[in-house]
Amino acid sequence: MSGERRQIVIIGGGITGLAAAFYLEKEIKKNDLPAEVTLVEASPRLGGKIQTVHKDGYVIERGPDSFLERKQSAPQLVKDLGLEHLLVNNATGQSYVLVSETLYPIPEGAVMGVPTKIGPFLTTGLFSLPGKLRAGMDLLLPASKPQEDQSLGEFFRRRVGGEVVENLIEPLLSGIYAGDIDRLSLMSTFPQFYQTEQKYRSLIIGMKKSRGAQSVKKPANKKKGQFQTVKTGLQTIVEELEKQLSITKVYKGTKVLSIERAGSGYSMKLDNGKVLNADSAVVTAPHKAAAAMFPKADWLKGLEDMVSTSVANVALGFPKEAVQMEHQGTGFVISRNSDFSITACTWTNKKWPSTTPEGKVLLRAYVGKAGDESVVEQSDNEMVKIVLDDLRRIMKIDGEPEMTCITRWHEAMPQYHVGHKKRMKEIREGLQASYPGVFMTGASFEGVGIPDCIDQGKQAVADVLSHLFE
Ligand SMILES: Cc1cc2nc3c(=O)[nH]c(=O)nc-3n(C[C@H](O)[C@H](O)[C@H](O)COP(=O)(O)OP(=O)(O)OC[C@H]3O[C@@H](n4cnc5c(N)ncnc54)[C@H](O)[C@@H]3O)c2cc1C
Repeated sequence: MSGERRQIVIIGGGITGLAAAFYLEKEIKKNDLPAEVTLVEASPRLGGKIQTVHKDGYVIERGPDSFLERKQSAPQLVKDLGLEHLLVNNATGQSYVLVSETLYPIPEGAVMGVPTKIGPFLTTGLFSLPGKLRAGMDLLLPASKPQEDQSLGEFFRRRVGGEVVENLIEPLLSGIYAGDIDRLSLMSTFPQFYQTEQKYRSLIIGMKKSRGAQSVKKPANKKKGQFQTVKTGLQTIVEELEKQLSITKVYKGTKVLSIERAGSGYSMKLDNGKVLNADSAVVTAPHKAAAAMFPKADWLKGLEDMVSTSVANVALGFPKEAVQMEHQGTGFVISRNSDFSITACTWTNKKWPSTTPEGKVLLRAYVGKAGDESVVEQSDNEMVKIVLDDLRRIMKIDGEPEMTCITRWHEAMPQYHVGHKKRMKEIREGLQASYPGVFMTGASFEGVGIPDCIDQGKQAVADVLSHLFE
């Protein structure tokens, strides 16, 4: 080992792999480490799910449109890249939930659907009186017995009842995971709700207490939206990362086919016929692609069995006068009991004004979720028609859109089903035993949000350095 430069390979150039490469370079330079880094990305472009299109003056996100400001690693990366001046928060405004054919304002103080203010919850037309009374039982019910994991549906139904789950919690949560709340793992998605129940017994009381503590700390932020993006589109982060990588060799349009042990390190076959040698590697490709790099092994089963849902989004641009919205706000989610194909819609020009030219309206509608993915396979024309037919039931839209941008994401939303944490731990243990120094991470593992992916990239850097240099 002495005198030799250690070879580190990062597989996948989405935000997890890029963040890993960026922070790894910083460590190598800061500590003058004898290491070389190569990043291998299958597609001809970097960024993975992050992709921005600039079309007719609109800034359209094909994938994520923002990140939670509260999870510090994303705003911190933007600052580390020197792009702080481009950060914007979303405009706050009323969001709605569509139940049957009616848009109801999401009651003020609802945190992921859990009420923390009693007044708006009592007066909303979103729930029946029995539904409200049932939700109020959360104040009296004991905490459940500690358990390793459970589904989001089971947990929330027990606490606040079926109606609040169906009309509010399910549409909000499935908007994030495009999943089935009766299969999604509480501990891998929102463990804080479980911790709140265990600590305070009642979710409503616990959320009220923790929100109270936060607002005492941060009064100035009250009117700021909780999400941030980069004015020019999230792809700017990707482009800047690529620009600032100075010692990392980047291979685009190159797929890693296999990883095999070779002496004390590894050899990786690439689809261009070449072989890369590595002393340590970070695999950030989505889980199915990651599993395919290794010969079949028991510890891979958890990855092979894990499903991902397909989704699509349709961005539509109109002249302002063509769209009349009775409701002022930033968008709506749709209850699964409603007879609609779209699952949600963002009034993007309201939520992110910097995305839309003056005098225009930008709508972004979403289709596809667990159990309802066939719509993603429709032709472009059919998909625009389906979306417009749905939207016209909710708002007045004259004529056809002057701009459309459709994005399909096949098997793109990894589903963290009940037991996910345990399965991922087994995979990591199996990997550690058979391939020490190879680490798997990214959206399939410990969080799909951009900040979660950045955190995982940073953790991978720590793992690699500890493997090679401690
Ligand atoms: C439509 C949509 C909307 C979303 N909205 C939000 C949002 O608003 N906010 C938010 O925080 N998150 C959002 N997310 C989630 C977030 O965007 C993703 O979880 C995150 O970007 C994933 O990053 P990643 O690097 O882990 O994976 P990816 O972005 O999937 O990157 C993995 C990379 O690995 C490459 N690869 C695959 N196989 C190989 C191989 N064999 N060899 C080499 N490279 C390979 C792929 O080409 C890809 O570039 C959204 C996701 C989607 C799909």
